[in-house]
Amino acid sequence: LALPDTSSGWRLYQPSIEDALQKRIRLHEALRIALDNQQFFLVYQPKIDLRSGRVIGAEALLRWVHPELGFISPVDFIPMAEASGEILRIGDWVIDRAIRQLEEWLAAHQVAADFHLAVNVSVQQLTQPDFARSLLHRLLRSRLPAGALEVEVTESGLMENVDLAREQLQLLSRHRVSVAIDDFGTGHSSLAYLKTLPVSVLKIDRAFVSSMDTDPQDQRLAETVIDMARNFDCTTVAEGVEKPEQAQMLIDMGCEVAQGYWYSPPLKVEQFIEFCAERRLEMA
Ligand code: C2E
Ligand code: MG
Ligand code: MG
Ligand code: MG
Repeated sequence: LALPDTSSGWRLYQPSIEDALQKRIRLHEALRIALDNQQFFLVYQPKIDLRSGRVIGAEALLRWVHPELGFISPVDFIPMAEASGEILRIGDWVIDRAIRQLEEWLAAHQVAADFHLAVNVSVQQLTQPDFARSLLHRLLRSRLPAGALEVEVTESGLMENVDLAREQLQLLSRHRVSVAIDDFGTGHSSLAYLKTLPVSVLKIDRAFVSSMDTDPQDQRLAETVIDMARNFDCTTVAEGVEKPEQAQMLIDMGCEVAQGYWYSPPLKVEQFIEFCAERRLEMA
């Protein structure tokens, strides 16, 4: 770093810029070896059918706990992994881990036969020419029923490269892997594009859900997404449901599925299985 050597205030900032830079470099280095050092694991957030209250699936979310740095949020490290290309290896691991976990749960009858597990996929993964083929290959090798795996892609990621993404998504959906658009409502996608994508789920972004019960405009936005999903033959999932009032509003609007702290935060495997068992008892 070449900062001007003057008596002005510039020098004062030098240490903090270097600190921040050092920290980023350390984090990048840590991220590069995290996978090989088994520092990643998945947590699972239940997806609830709003009509029946049943757990109909889950979303797998990546967690990184570094031995010295502690918990690092995916909001911070996923963009870094995307920028460095590391996301390709990490994303492969997520898919393999999710497939194996789902096989285990189904074999032990810990989840219903029609349960599905969703994994988040970055646009960098999705635009690899062999992404869909490689995923399908792994899925076929597993003993999972068709349709047990769902892929979530953010609306903004999808719009970065619609044409490459469409090819991959078409191959996936032809083999009954369902495609969900994540964070829907924040990514400025055009309806003309949406129409050409084989999407079966729209996930209403948390931002709209969280202010739905206090902001009539966000309520109308959520309602618009649900109506639109219906017209496109898509299921709507509301993310970030934190209050019973929000859940009730969503039911009234015809939203089918919900996720959020009101039902459960993302859980480690053992707690997830407990949650499913308790819910089944409540339902019975
Ligand atoms: P996302 O896919 O939209 O996931 C939903 C996020 O909302 C998760 O944050 C989840 O823990 C959080 N959440 C769920 N319910 C509530 C709620 O009621 N209130 C609030 N305030 N938050 C709630 P998380 O786990 O920190 O993940 C953040 C983002 O990181 C994800 O957003 C996703 O875009 C990305 N991500 C996570 N795991 C993966 C992964 O395996 N691969 C890729 N490519 N991205 C991932
Ligand atoms: Mg997601
Ligand atoms: Mg989301
Ligand atoms: Mg998000």
